[in-house]
Amino acid sequence: MNISYLTLIIITLVIGLGTQALIRGAYKKWNRVAVSTGITGAEAARRMLDAHGLHQVSIQSVSGSLTDHFDPRSNVVSLSQDVYSGRSVSATAIACHECGHAVQHAQGYVPAKMRGAIVPAVNFASNIWIFVLFAGLFMQMLGLIYLSIILYLAVIAFQLVTLPVEFDASRRALGYIKTLGQLPDQQVGGARTVLRSAALTYVAAALTSLLYLVWLLGYTRSN
Ligand SMILES: [Zn+2]
Repeated sequence: MNISYLTLIIITLVIGLGTQALIRGAYKKWNRVAVSTGITGAEAARRMLDAHGLHQVSIQSVSGSLTDHFDPRSNVVSLSQDVYSGRSVSATAIACHECGHAVQHAQGYVPAKMRGAIVPAVNFASNIWIFVLFAGLFMQMLGLIYLSIILYLAVIAFQLVTLPVEFDASRRALGYIKTLGQLPDQQVGGARTVLRSAALTYVAAALTSLLYLVWLLGYTRSN
């Protein structure tokens, strides 16, 4: 496959913007639907954590939109304001997804452990690989170009191991939402849609990185 760098940028831009639009669309749609439990995202999170015996995990509200995350170091579930105080299907779905990560951490879920273990190396590699690549291209040193590819592989490995972690957190979230028994099928389906579209952004990121890798390998071959 021999595509120009410009084509590559356009393709990845379309993938990135397309998935962003998809997640925002799904989130907005189900954010307008009141969840039939009538509880906020924070309350849903507390219930799911307690149901798994995770009373020590705390929940806090953070600024921004779709900034929700779980920090395994502090054992804190952070929810964006809309999710924290929202009483929508979207709020419940995302709050429970973040709790899914807390449950993974508590149960020693292996892909999540692997992901956590490679974070420092990946941070280093993701900061430096592009400079190594440009240095290699500038000085016409194939060794440096190969080194940049190895560093880049670490970044891709991280993105690939992120996929099972994210899918599993959503699976745990949906599993818990179903046990509530208070949500009609349509709302469970809505929660599934929100979580699937959120997972798509991780798939898109991994796909984009793989495309760059293929391009990079093609480039080193032809030069
Ligand atoms: Zn997640």
